Amino acid sequence: MKARPKTFTVSGRTFTVHYVRDHALLNDEDMGRTDYDHGRILVRTYLDGTRLPADAVREALWHELMHAAFWSAGLPECAENEDLILQVSNAVLQIVTSAK
Ligand SMILES: [Zn+2]
Repeated sequence: MKARPKTFTVSGRTFTVHYVRDHALLNDEDMGRTDYDHGRILVRTYLDGTRLPADAVREALWHELMHAAFWSAGLPECAENEDLILQVSNAVLQIVTSAK
């Protein structure tokens, strides 16, 4: 997988990924956001004027990918469960980064 994929498909749904310095849809504390209606994921690359390290951007990306995966699987209650998303995205990221 590319470090910064621009599109991906899950459960037959294609999403575009946008790496943004800031965006009207992002609250100040948001690292990313999944816009299900438009098949779009926003991932923040700057916070408080400082460029985020690559691992922070990747963590935010995988978090949003898990939101998209659960939503596309027809499990919106899981997609909106932040604790579940945090646990699953951290586990998947560990698997992806430790796989040899
Ligand atoms: Zn989230």
